[in-house]
Amino acid sequence: MSLNLIDTHCHLDAKAFEQDFAEVLQRATETGVKRILSIGISRSSSATVMQMADKHPEIFPVVGIHPNYTLQTEPDDWDRIIEMAHHDSVVGVGETGLDRYWKDVPIEIQQDYFRRHIRLSRDTGKPFVVHCRDAETDVVELLQEESQGQPLSGVMHSFCGSGETAKICLQLGLHISFSGMLTYRRNEELRATAATIPLDRLLVETDAPYLAPQPRRGKRNEPAFTAMTNEVLAEVHGKTAEEMGEITTRNATALFQLH
Ligand SMILES: [Zn+2]
Repeated sequence: MSLNLIDTHCHLDAKAFEQDFAEVLQRATETGVKRILSIGISRSSSATVMQMADKHPEIFPVVGIHPNYTLQTEPDDWDRIIEMAHHDSVVGVGETGLDRYWKDVPIEIQQDYFRRHIRLSRDTGKPFVVHCRDAETDVVELLQEESQGQPLSGVMHSFCGSGETAKICLQLGLHISFSGMLTYRRNEELRATAATIPLDRLLVETDAPYLAPQPRRGKRNEPAFTAMTNEVLAEVHGKTAEEMGEITTRNATALFQLH
């Protein structure tokens, strides 16, 4: 059995990939990362990832406005995001969520956009992708409010929260996606949490160009490195890398309705 992976979260439109874009895609394919979800962070970034997906069948676009960019929007940006989200090629909505680490955007604006994304996700039937930084309590609260007892369809991306938060998110119907943070030496507790996530809710990602896994920590991340996180996730679940690849690929394919 060979390795088959999907990088469910990266930013291929980042400047960091301008120089060697083709090689980055090539290395991903060679490593077994056969499909890549590239996530928009603004109107223009979302448009760019859609164009990339038009040219490269292995790339799937997700469109939205990142919480840290919600303050810099033009009046019709959200209408354009709605339009894009309904497009056939688009597989998800985001990245959205809450961020209390960077203090530049008032939390009320972030919450407003988070709710819009969740509603757009419902309208389109496409899952939403959640960014959560130093805002676990707020994120959980908002998700619970929006859920109103109905299951949500979405991903806690680059999960680094507590076991308790993971449990609540699972109850709400969400998937949990692990990035390179899972591989960092000091993140024993995160690996312990990962071990508790049911196999059918697990996803892997890079969040490239950020958060490179341990062997490459501090360097540029890229989709091929999904394999390193997948390997650690396999270990904590007592699976082979190939088995975990099949599991997370099956989950991502079903959740994002990839074809
Ligand atoms: Zn991201």
